[in-house]
Amino acid sequence: MPGLLKISFKKALITPFILVFLCSIGTILWLQKKHYDDLALEISEKQLTSLSYNVIQSLDIYLERPMAVADALAHAIEYHQLYSANDALAIEDYLLSSFKSLHTEFSQIDLLGFGGELGEFLAIRNAKSIHTPNGYSLMVKDANTSEQLNVYQGENRQSRVIDTIKPYDPRLRPWYQPVKENPVAMWSKLYANADADQEVTISALAPVFSSDGDIRTFVGVAAVDVQIDTFSLFLNELKHAHNAQVFIIDNQRQLIAQADDESILDANGQRLSMADSSHPALTFLAQTLDNTELTEPHLFAFPYQGDTLYVMVSPYQTNTNLSWYVVVSISTHALLGDIPMISNQTLIAGLILGGLGLLVGIVIINRLILPMSETAEAAKQISNGSWDYPLPKNNRIKEISLLVESFSSMRSHLQASFHTLREQLTRDNLTKLYSRQGFIETCNAMKSDSGCMMLLGVNQFRDINDSLGHHQGDILLSVIAERLKAWVLLENGVLGRVAGDEFAIYLPDVQPEQQLCYQHRIRQIFNAPFVLQGEPLMLQVSIGIAPITEEDTTDTTLRNAGIAHSHAKFDCQRCCIYTPDMAESSKKKTRLLSTLRNAIDNNKFEVYFQPIIELGSGQTLGAEALLRLRDDEGRFISPLDFIPIAEGSGLISSIGRIMAEKSLETVVNAIKQRRLPAHFQLHINVSVIELASASYVDELSELLKCAGFPARQLTVEVTESRLADNDPITLGNLSKIRALGVNIAIDDFGTGYSSLAYLHKLPFNSLKVDKAFVDRLTPDNAEQSVVAAITKLSSSFGFTLVAEGIETPLQAKLVHELGCHHAQGYLYGRPAPLEQWPQLVATAKMKNLVGTK
Ligand code: C2E
Ligand code: CA
Ligand code: CA
Repeated sequence: MPGLLKISFKKALITPFILVFLCSIGTILWLQKKHYDDLALEISEKQLTSLSYNVIQSLDIYLERPMAVADALAHAIEYHQLYSANDALAIEDYLLSSFKSLHTEFSQIDLLGFGGELGEFLAIRNAKSIHTPNGYSLMVKDANTSEQLNVYQGENRQSRVIDTIKPYDPRLRPWYQPVKENPVAMWSKLYANADADQEVTISALAPVFSSDGDIRTFVGVAAVDVQIDTFSLFLNELKHAHNAQVFIIDNQRQLIAQADDESILDANGQRLSMADSSHPALTFLAQTLDNTELTEPHLFAFPYQGDTLYVMVSPYQTNTNLSWYVVVSISTHALLGDIPMISNQTLIAGLILGGLGLLVGIVIINRLILPMSETAEAAKQISNGSWDYPLPKNNRIKEISLLVESFSSMRSHLQASFHTLREQLTRDNLTKLYSRQGFIETCNAMKSDSGCMMLLGVNQFRDINDSLGHHQGDILLSVIAERLKAWVLLENGVLGRVAGDEFAIYLPDVQPEQQLCYQHRIRQIFNAPFVLQGEPLMLQVSIGIAPITEEDTTDTTLRNAGIAHSHAKFDCQRCCIYTPDMAESSKKKTRLLSTLRNAIDNNKFEVYFQPIIELGSGQTLGAEALLRLRDDEGRFISPLDFIPIAEGSGLISSIGRIMAEKSLETVVNAIKQRRLPAHFQLHINVSVIELASASYVDELSELLKCAGFPARQLTVEVTESRLADNDPITLGNLSKIRALGVNIAIDDFGTGYSSLAYLHKLPFNSLKVDKAFVDRLTPDNAEQSVVAAITKLSSSFGFTLVAEGIETPLQAKLVHELGCHHAQGYLYGRPAPLEQWPQLVATAKMKNLVGTK
């Protein structure tokens, strides 16, 4: 099918494999990636939630105790009435004993202190850092310390003062005022210590009252310092246990603690904001979170350095005014460890294996398909005529082997049939010579551009077939073939029978000037009689010769020889050499032939009638019917042009019948209508070809019967020159026509090779003297003219004479005086349709009168 895209079998087989492979791989990759992402998200959420919970729990514990301690401290001072203005000694003992018992258990508690309304301050703290012998350091400011804060190396006032801060007023410290303003337990803001270490600290604060009966007076603030740094240690442990980063930030988005050794302070001692942190999770959050407070944990995921970071932010709130956030972040790698890598490796291994499998599959398919492709190629080559194209060798696969074997045997059978077919096509069965096809192929193979082509046809072969039968005809053709073959072989030529009785001869070595000599040689071949059924038979042949030229193909040359042969046959010249104008006339013939066929099929013939006059009376005796045919433009084509073509093509019988029918019908009708006299004579022209047909007389008699026209009023005109062939059927037919009562006129008498001796054999009753003789008549030569001789002949033989082509009154007078009684010619009337006749007949009468004057 044209236009349909064709793909090879191999591609058709392999492509689906590859497509399925690629689709599977794609789906697996996609599924794995999706699965992996879902898994990571799920695990990260669980992990981070549990971590956050852990941190929040720990924070609770971590911060709960200091707050309880502060509360207990405030309560104890009030309950035991430890406070006395500007004297801290009573509280000092209590603080020291409490701190000692608490400190070892709750390492986060760094300091227990009391700041009073009168500006006194007392604190005991853990001070390993400042190299105290037992680790406790007392800080006192009261009336005894003269307005300054003394820091002792030990736990009592007897030890060395290692530092003094002056002036120092606890009421001005950031942790004091809020409690004073709102005397409830609360957390201070985060602040850096006043001493040199600048540790980030947060204090659990509780208001201290002194009660006197029912009256409670606010006297100061109990403070428990918690060093947030110590919480970082806890976070660090978590980080190492879970591979996660943990941060605590306040609602100002500033760092409180982180599981890291890095400080949460910047170079100026200010706490880092999330945005300034070096941790990606925090910088991400700085960009992502707005300032609204989060009440629920939130999970975020974002890509970071080829990995995904999951971040969970959970709020941490206490009823003691803390509002912080716990931030936990973990990377996929930390979360899933080597799982992705292992699964990637598995996938790659799978891919490699799959690819290998595909490759092996393709190789196997290739090997399987190869013999089929080779067989297909062989089939293609065979269709181009290469029968010997090699077929694939034996194959191990049963089906393929079977296919190849079957194909091979099919090829053998096909080759044999093909040879037989070619033999039939290229050889003529009867003579064993080349057929037309074989002849052309052989000539083509010789590729010669010189020499000549001859086309030889046996004249009247149809008659031989008709008279002796087809079997004898075949024998004759075989004998002719044998004679020609013997000669053509000697001449290195090619011989073929190209049609029923036509032989083509190609003589490569013959020069154009030698052609006639060869033609002579052929005649010699046919000079010896052929013996059929013991009877000798002389054959005549027509020969058409065409020279071989470089431009013309064998086909064209053969056609040219055929055209020359038609000319030779038609013109009875026996031999013709092709000239280009023959092709032109042959084309004209072809056109005319198609016009004739069309005219027969569509009833386009017209019949004109030309009056025949009795010269003595001027009466119209009858008329000659003449056939008229127009071309496509409506112009008349002369019967002299189309009758010979009709005769050569076998159409003449149909045309003759049409003509006879029409003219009989027209005349019979006109007689019935009394437009013509009842004894009106009708002349029709009949071709010798029609006369040679065995059935002609029966058909004529049938026509007469049908038309109801008397036989004696019909004359059949036969051209004399064409009758010379002495054909027994023709002669027999003429006698039968006479026997019917129909008259016979010899037409154009004097133009042929008329032999008077032959003439008397013909059963005719009138002669038509050709116009050529009438034209030559003058008053001076009339007596010695051919017309005069014929007139004498007619009176002794007893037939009538019709002078044709009378154009002048003088001619009419002369022929009449010579004894010719009937005439026909333009003088009396041109051939015309019968409807135009009454007037013509009248004119004829008048002219005749003028002529006889
Ligand atoms: P023909 O039978 O000899 O017919 C007479 C021819 O001479 C006619 O030519 C006619 O028109 C022409 N003719 C008659 N009087 C004169 C004249 O005074 N001067 C001149 N110059 N010509 C005259 P047309 O019709 O062209 O026919 C030519 C030939 O064609 C006929 O010759 C006849 O042989 C043949 N033909 C015509 N009709 C038929 C037909 O129906 N069947 C057959 N087989 N042949 C026919
Ligand atoms: Ca005639
Ligand atoms: Ca004539």
